[in-house]
Amino acid sequence: MKVLVINCGSSSLKYQLIDSESEAVLAKGLCERIGIDGSSVTHQKAGGPKKQEDADMSDHTDAVKIVIEKLTDPEDGVIDSLSEIGAVGHRIVHGGERFQGSVLIDEDVMEAISECSALAPLHNPANLIGIRSCRKVMPGVPMAAVFDTAFHQTMPPKAYLYGLPLEYYEKYKVRRYGFHGTSHDFVSRRAAQILGKSRDELRIIVCHLGNGASVSAVRYGKSVDTSMGLTPLEGLIMGTRSGDMDPAIVGFLAEKEGMSASQVIDVCNKRSGVLGLSGGISSDFRDLAEAASGGDETAKTALEAYAYRVGKYIGAYAAAMNGVDVIAFTAGVGENNAEVRQMIGQYIGFLGTSIDPEKNRIRGEEVILSAEGEKVVTMVVPTDEELAIARETVRLAGNR
Ligand code: AMP
Repeated sequence: MKVLVINCGSSSLKYQLIDSESEAVLAKGLCERIGIDGSSVTHQKAGGPKKQEDADMSDHTDAVKIVIEKLTDPEDGVIDSLSEIGAVGHRIVHGGERFQGSVLIDEDVMEAISECSALAPLHNPANLIGIRSCRKVMPGVPMAAVFDTAFHQTMPPKAYLYGLPLEYYEKYKVRRYGFHGTSHDFVSRRAAQILGKSRDELRIIVCHLGNGASVSAVRYGKSVDTSMGLTPLEGLIMGTRSGDMDPAIVGFLAEKEGMSASQVIDVCNKRSGVLGLSGGISSDFRDLAEAASGGDETAKTALEAYAYRVGKYIGAYAAAMNGVDVIAFTAGVGENNAEVRQMIGQYIGFLGTSIDPEKNRIRGEEVILSAEGEKVVTMVVPTDEELAIARETVRLAGNR
């Protein structure tokens, strides 16, 4: 079956067409600036060049139509007609407590996703627009919703409750949800597979280190803790997000800078993390590594603070699971940035593992970084969220 995977933002739409038998990506692309002047589509057929062109897209339905045009284009396309698309998988950011796993989309599910919008006001409405647009352009094609939060729904109350009055949980569902669940699930599964073991017998710490970053504790196949919370702001220092901090800072800065609470939170989301810590050099770890190697002390400190926070979470999750068998690094930084991995390596020796500098030279490949015979296996496992969504979609939609 050919599965179209859609990741819809408020003005963008990313897509991949995946053949579920071979698991090959047949084509992929991105529609940008939807509903804004200067909208464009970038499309790439497997093995072909990336082609970007201007395209009129007044809304997401236009964008989905353009995606179908590209996929069926005589030159750049990979299918003859829309009817070859067997199912569509949608990445949905927030499933609240309602969704413990992926589901086939119907009116009820759409309503529930809409109800979760209060918890993810920037993402869920955009995800829903993506679903509606696809249903318009592809009526009758089965569609699945795959949630970023679902994998973490196995966290116990002691891990997901904040130390706040319980009434806020009861009234508003203020609790920790966690994100990147599709990736934590995929990587922990794959790590076990690489080691020839069942995930059900392993305690795995997954470090998803991308622009957004989170760590999870996966104990015998189930997420028992993760570093992101009610929103993706909690936990690690990220590209532009602060991660954990004293919540009193919000009120303090609001008063000092004459900002509202939501303006301070905006700073915490968009101008903080390694970008903020480096005094604005960059949120991109490649730029920071370059600045640090050129002697920039703020860039160096930003990277050290980043690695230190990851190290602390690894220690915390080893305690949470009363031990750890595997530590897996993934996503942009985790897969590619040897310097950051090496820096994190300083904090894991006490667990009985290490990062071998020779093995650590690799980029973007599955590799075991720890030495033979060490108590804990440390490894790199590239993530593939689109493939994970496609697999879930096929599981639900059946191989029709
Ligand atoms: P993601 O959000 O998973 O796409 O990750 C984005 C982050 O990964 C950026 O900060 C990049 O600097 C980092 N990254 C991606 N590729 C590389 C690379 N080849 N070397 C170092 N860092 C990389």
